Amino acid sequence: MNCLVTGAAGFIGSHLCKRLLKEGFSVIGIDSFNDYYSRWMKDKNILPFQNHSQFQLISDNLNDIDLGSLLQDVDYIFHLAAQAGVRSSWGKNFSVYTENNISATQKLLEAAKDSGIKKLIYASSSSVYGLCPELPMTESSPLLPYSPYGVTKLAAENLCQLYFKNFYVPTVSLRFFTVYGPGQRPDMAFHIFFKAIENNTPIPLYGDGKQTRDFTYIDDIVDANVHALDKGKAGEIYNIGGGNRKEMKTIFPILEKITGKEVLLQHFDRQRGDVFHTYADINKAKKVLDFSPQIPLEEGLSREWEWIQKLYNRK
Ligand code: NAD
Repeated sequence: MNCLVTGAAGFIGSHLCKRLLKEGFSVIGIDSFNDYYSRWMKDKNILPFQNHSQFQLISDNLNDIDLGSLLQDVDYIFHLAAQAGVRSSWGKNFSVYTENNISATQKLLEAAKDSGIKKLIYASSSSVYGLCPELPMTESSPLLPYSPYGVTKLAAENLCQLYFKNFYVPTVSLRFFTVYGPGQRPDMAFHIFFKAIENNTPIPLYGDGKQTRDFTYIDDIVDANVHALDKGKAGEIYNIGGGNRKEMKTIFPILEKITGKEVLLQHFDRQRGDVFHTYADINKAKKVLDFSPQIPLEEGLSREWEWIQKLYNRK
């Protein structure tokens, strides 16, 4: 069986490639190695498997590739390529988001409709819920994205639904809730927090710290993707959350315990586009995908801390 993983050199994509290769799949990875964060981190991400005999890397932009011929021999697509990040999605940067999140997805779906793929699993996001007043958020809760990033993730999810309804492209959307663990992007909170602790500099805290997030460990996200491959129903959407919902301010004592260091905080106003709460109802994924998050927050954070220390060559 052949899989295509878009965004293969990114945080989640690289973990997924590793797992698919371990499970015996052949994997084609596409990544444009965009400059949102350092190339050396992405090179490090793919290092463990880039020379695997069943892995092929295409270093190019989805918008520039002849996807029609590429998909001839592909059974499953995991579509993770995107311009990530809420805070940088304002202003003139927005076109980067529409290009990479909406146009690239439409191009992939167009090619998929003329291919024999068995499933296309799209990496959607809790950001599609935005200011949703219902907690926990179920798949049928109101979708009120609060950032330009969220708008583009929802647009791409809607495109997946359209191509399923009109052309029977077997799409499955997984709405990931804040993913963390080794390999986490350097713009994400825990990566920033651990790096600051390591450097004995203050942690930037935006807002009053009462905002909540449902944190999901990377291996649980990978599990959900692998389960969706045969259990995910075409045309359906599933919340994928870790069951680790916490107020941000309650995270700092945990970080102090793990690192053995004192946490210094520097307070800033809440950032535009940052939502107040995310909280996933994962009953649908439990029932249909047999999804069951395994990693408690403290365990997952300890693993990320180990990785951060090695990444910055301190260990
Ligand atoms: P990431 O930035 O580490 O990985 C995305 C990769 O896609 C990057 O390596 C980038 O170079 C590549 N890419 C971007 N546009 C491309 C294009 N047009 N063609 C080819 N490659 C392209 O991000 P991540 O955290 O691994 O996120 C992966 C996916 O999961 C994204 O779709 C993101 O929206 C979604 N997601 C992530 C989280 C999270 O907490 N990390 C939460 C919800 C959803």
